[in-house]
Amino acid sequence: MSVTITPPRKRECELCGREERWDDDLDGWQIAGETGNVYCIHEWDINGSFTPLEKSNLS
Ligand SMILES: [Zn+2]
Repeated sequence: MSVTITPPRKRECELCGREERWDDDLDGWQIAGETGNVYCIHEWDINGSFTPLEKSNLS
């Protein structure tokens, strides 16, 4: 069997508890569960290497 890298299907914010799941139809993250803090920049707890936002996106 070859090694298959599976992208994360679910992520949870370490700071506010916001949960999202990956939606194949929309090709994007959808809120799944707690909405969390809308002002949170979301340090996602997935595998420790995912960057949620580029600095330039913050106004
Ligand atoms: Zn958060």
